[in-house]
Amino acid sequence: MPERERLGARIAAQRERLRAQSRLRTRRTVARRDGVRAEVDGRWLLNFCGNDYLGLAQHFQVGNALQDAAAREGVGGGASHLVCGHHAHHAALEREVADWLQVPRALLLGSGYAANLAVLQALLGEGDVCVQDRLNHASLIDAARLAGCRLRRYPHADPEGALRQLRAAPGGAAVLATDGVFSMDGDLAPLRALALAAHAQHALLYVDDAHGIGVLGPEGRGSVAAARLDRLARPLQLVTLGKALGGYGAIVAGDEDLIEHLAGTARPYVYTTALPPALAAAALAAVRLARREHWRRERLQALIARLRAGAARHGFDLLPSETPIQPLVCGDDATALAWSQALEAAGFWVAAIRPPTVPEGRARLRIALSAAHADAEVDALVEALAAARDRLAPAAGPRA
Ligand SMILES: *Cc1c(COP(=O)(O)O)cnc(C)c1O
Repeated sequence: MPERERLGARIAAQRERLRAQSRLRTRRTVARRDGVRAEVDGRWLLNFCGNDYLGLAQHFQVGNALQDAAAREGVGGGASHLVCGHHAHHAALEREVADWLQVPRALLLGSGYAANLAVLQALLGEGDVCVQDRLNHASLIDAARLAGCRLRRYPHADPEGALRQLRAAPGGAAVLATDGVFSMDGDLAPLRALALAAHAQHALLYVDDAHGIGVLGPEGRGSVAAARLDRLARPLQLVTLGKALGGYGAIVAGDEDLIEHLAGTARPYVYTTALPPALAAAALAAVRLARREHWRRERLQALIARLRAGAARHGFDLLPSETPIQPLVCGDDATALAWSQALEAAGFWVAAIRPPTVPEGRARLRIALSAAHADAEVDALVEALAAARDRLAPAAGPRA
């Protein structure tokens, strides 16, 4: 009989390994937030790593909607949607998002992570295939595992590769799943070409638009609208409420029958408590602001251009990106950490993103902009990057 392995010993060894690789992950506690400023360990830092792209997370109308609804309806969702937890605030939000994206139906779920699990689990099973971009979000990978389907990955942003993978897996149903905006790179998926590949292979296109919604396209309708896919294909779309919309939760939007099927059968929807109705009310207020206030997107675009011009002037090579996600690849983990620490010492919070979130040797600073940043704050970040390079052995830093 082999001897039972002790979990405690295994965990301790793993922790040591991660520490040696500069890969140990720790949490920082935010004591207070004020727009793009956060108080951490007794110091106020300028936050350049959040996902509050439109500056809606602390908007008074969003906060008021939450407070009003909680005062009337209480806090908890009370039950799952199919038992007695489905509330008029949930329904109103679903209708608003369907109208916004110009699709027949939308379904509210607990989070983007849960929504991805729900979509693939409800649609695919043994004998089916899910074809995915290599840089897709971890939740899509986990979703294919939960579904029990085959998972085949193609090279990043490569529609030919997607087509090859679909052709290599005939028989059974197929979903082609991609991030709309890649969360750690900030670039856009080639949605038109992917839609054609999916169409040719009778696969459903599923676009996880966690980082595109609110930010891209007319009225902030996201990367599908920006790619003008509407007439080409009707993909299933994921809208998350926790990023540009400043709240929590997620919505899957698309055709009537697909959405109805998810609502009735997706385990991560059926077997969980409904989102607090007050959060849905807050999200409704945020969606209305995001649709109406174009200046937030214009502001964001101006800040993106400003950051890229400033970085280029100092010889920094940001990854090509037209979104608020502006990564600076550092290479190894220790270098990315050192840069992040140097910036923090100067008052800027920019997280170092390391494997397995990004591929080996591609550790980076993931700079994230918000419409709530001021021009001077972006300029100051660029200056701080340049100063950090001067201090941190220039040869080891991000490419100049
Ligand atoms: C953040 C994110 C998710 C998960 O959404 P949550 O609502 O935070 O659970 C899913 N996909 C992508 C691409 C994301 O960036």
